[in-house]
Amino acid sequence: MTKAKFSRVIVKLSGEALSGNREYGIDPQFINSIAEELKEVNDTVEVAIVVGGGNIFRGVAGSAQGMDRGTADYMGMLATVINALALQDALEKLEIETRVQTAIAMREVAEPYIRRRAMRHLEKGRIVIFAAGTGNPFFSTDTTAALRAAEIGADAILMAKNVDGVYDSDPAENPDAVKFNELDYIEVINNCLGVMDSTAVSLCMDNKIPIVVFGLQEIENIKRVVLGEEIGTFVR
Ligand code: UDP
Repeated sequence: MTKAKFSRVIVKLSGEALSGNREYGIDPQFINSIAEELKEVNDTVEVAIVVGGGNIFRGVAGSAQGMDRGTADYMGMLATVINALALQDALEKLEIETRVQTAIAMREVAEPYIRRRAMRHLEKGRIVIFAAGTGNPFFSTDTTAALRAAEIGADAILMAKNVDGVYDSDPAENPDAVKFNELDYIEVINNCLGVMDSTAVSLCMDNKIPIVVFGLQEIENIKRVVLGEEIGTFVR
């Protein structure tokens, strides 16, 4: 078996990553292919996942339409739970033991987030899906990924995105946009590069957690990153 570069990782799947080619909601077929890939990755490293909710609801969008920001953010956090359950279902169909842990208690649906229990699940080879963000409004699931990575001692955060790395400008708008292979945390913060929000990057910087940003157009990219192939952008 090829040796993995990491032993425990957090994979951050944005809501958009779960919507496949749809504008809104979940694409079950696409989620199934992500699950198949995660099954393989889980054979080589311990995998915890942080899911976003942007394919269903974002707090900022709600507050832009006049909603109270805190309430809108709680709606966003609940959206991540819907995504987590969809992913759990797809993983369990492949007979992978999976636990969803939520930062907002909903005992009938999932376990509450308990750090030690999450680590124990990982040691037993289970995939743990962290849902409901940090449980606090005004944060993002990127910050959740940074926080959980620090808490459970993950070696890296693998940020699966719709673009294949970090560019100096938006590659969808500028055909001359240049992709970075490597960046310092501080370059990301100072140049407002769209890797993660600045709270999340600061947390990674303070705790020396590397971030790998890569595209999910090719689903095997998750495995490539875990095996140490240098694709996407490495932030350290
Ligand atoms: N959210 C929050 N606190 C958190 C994490 C998420 O309030 O700790 C809310 C916020 O409204 C956010 C939404 O949940 O817009 C969905 O998360 P995010 O936008 O990070 O999802 P993604 O962009 O990864 O799909």
